[in-house]
Amino acid sequence: MDLDLIVIGGGVNGCGIARDAAMRGFKTALIEKNDFGSGTTGASSQMIHGGARYLLSDVQTTKLSSIDSGYIQKIVPHLLFRIPFIFPVLRKPNRGEFLQKMYFEGIETYFESYDKYSALKNGKPHTRLSPEEALALEPDLVEGMVGAVTFDEWGIDSFRLCLGNVMSAAEHGCEILNHTEVTEIQKEGGRVVGVRVKSALDGSRRELRAKIVFNAAGPWVPKIAELAGCEIKLRPAKGVHLVLDRRISNYALMATAIDGRNIFMMPYQNTTIVGTTDDDYFGDPDEIPILEDEVEYLLEGIEQVFPRIRQARVINAWAGVRPTLYRRGPSEDELSRAHEIFDHEYRDRLPGFLSIAGGKLAAYRMMSQEAVDLVSYKLGRISPCRTHQVPLPGGEREVNPEELAREYHVPLFAANRLVYRHGARSIRILEMLREKPTFGNVICQCEPVLECELRYAVRHEWARSLGDLRRRTRYSIGPCEGTRCFMMGARILGEEMDWSPSKVYSHLNAFMEKSWKGRAPVLDGVSLQQEELCSSTYFNVGSLDQY
Ligand SMILES: Cc1cc2nc3c(=O)[nH]c(=O)nc-3n(C[C@H](O)[C@H](O)[C@H](O)COP(=O)(O)OP(=O)(O)OC[C@H]3O[C@@H](n4cnc5c(N)ncnc54)[C@H](O)[C@@H]3O)c2cc1C
Repeated sequence: MDLDLIVIGGGVNGCGIARDAAMRGFKTALIEKNDFGSGTTGASSQMIHGGARYLLSDVQTTKLSSIDSGYIQKIVPHLLFRIPFIFPVLRKPNRGEFLQKMYFEGIETYFESYDKYSALKNGKPHTRLSPEEALALEPDLVEGMVGAVTFDEWGIDSFRLCLGNVMSAAEHGCEILNHTEVTEIQKEGGRVVGVRVKSALDGSRRELRAKIVFNAAGPWVPKIAELAGCEIKLRPAKGVHLVLDRRISNYALMATAIDGRNIFMMPYQNTTIVGTTDDDYFGDPDEIPILEDEVEYLLEGIEQVFPRIRQARVINAWAGVRPTLYRRGPSEDELSRAHEIFDHEYRDRLPGFLSIAGGKLAAYRMMSQEAVDLVSYKLGRISPCRTHQVPLPGGEREVNPEELAREYHVPLFAANRLVYRHGARSIRILEMLREKPTFGNVICQCEPVLECELRYAVRHEWARSLGDLRRRTRYSIGPCEGTRCFMMGARILGEEMDWSPSKVYSHLNAFMEKSWKGRAPVLDGVSLQQEELCSSTYFNVGSLDQY
């Protein structure tokens, strides 16, 4: 065998497993059919949290996620941000003052028990606010609350978390195959011995052989298991998020949707995100529709506590499928978020093949550790996990954005975002300005992205498309919806990839079409006008459709 381990799937679990295995000295390859984080991981709520909502139904998951969140904060400090939440407690109709008070007490008691887990992830304990105190913090909250409770969570950029793991894996010798699909699982003598893959970039095919193949394909886990002749049943659940054009609140807010489920709104990077729906989904995880009903469900729910949400512009929506473990009976919300590692040697008499499903972004590191412990055991080479001690790339030390802005003559607002995304690696990126000072140009104004960051993503982070650049840097994701930066990004990508002008144009055309599909469910009013402006800039003025 050439390799010890092949990992299928570049979501947070696959990237985490590849990093852990490579750090323990296993010869590893990581294979992702689309782009790192482009599946469920990128479509998550971006929280490294304990999950207050699982406290009653799944306390073990809350505990594990809180513990792992504490570790993740240590290894990638630049990428974490605090999310102080306010949960406004509204008056229930037809209830006397005493019952209103008891209801408020009940909610406070709930968060009091969450404090125990919050401490594990360095969260502040809950506080109780009077209506006046809540309004002083968040003036646009609805009038007439009984009061509010605060609690504390942590957010992250899940694409960059995946990338950090991939970079670390590669630096420890892991072979990285992005945009490469596993099309076959190969068997010999009753065991899995490798995979056949096809590159989406040039159509080339290859075989890779390894002692163990690990299926970490999220909602595609059953499909990969089927390639190996095994059956894994999941209870996949679809979740939709909306993106608003700017940060419209000071704090994150929790609200109750029309069906009694809890939903949230939080400032995220230079936007606001609203999430999430949670519905059984048995369709294709590659083509997840977003329905107007789902958009309205979220807006209506948040409107109950924050009426001003209707004044904000919804600029995008994304949907993902949670690879939840199979169980018949409970509603989607009550399903356990626990994970399972399927050892097909014992389950299906198929040695050399393992699968992982379920779990949470917030517990990815522990899940990966458990997975690689099993790989070590099977390979008979026990070596300790170090992923909780060794920082991810960029997390080694703090850097000061102001100093970088001064030294490299770039705007401070761009240096701030660069340091958030790359930590100490920002210096390597800014060093590219020595090659050409114009690499310091701000390409995307909405989510400040410098030209050097885009070029760095192509040279060192396996970016091969505009979508890859967007996931890594947030280029073209802001309120102008790419009107100002689509073309500049395409030119830079084309130069780095040595593409002909016509290839650049056809790539840009395809990218705009795909971006439009993501926005279509939320386009109306001012958003539609912005979309028209963007389209006419490129198609009417730039004649893009002629390429
Ligand atoms: C709406 C929603 C919100 C969530 N919010 C949170 C949250 O805030 N916090 C939290 O802790 N958890 C959250 N979760 C859960 C969390 O996102 C998931 O547990 C986690 O991202 C799953 O990661 P994964 O690596 O298993 O799957 P994925 O991220 O889906 O990765 C699987 C990868 O496999 C690749 N793949 C598939 N087939 C092939 C093939 N044939 N060859 C090669 N590659 C292949 C896919 O392209 C994909 O990138 C949320 C989930 C959802 C749906």
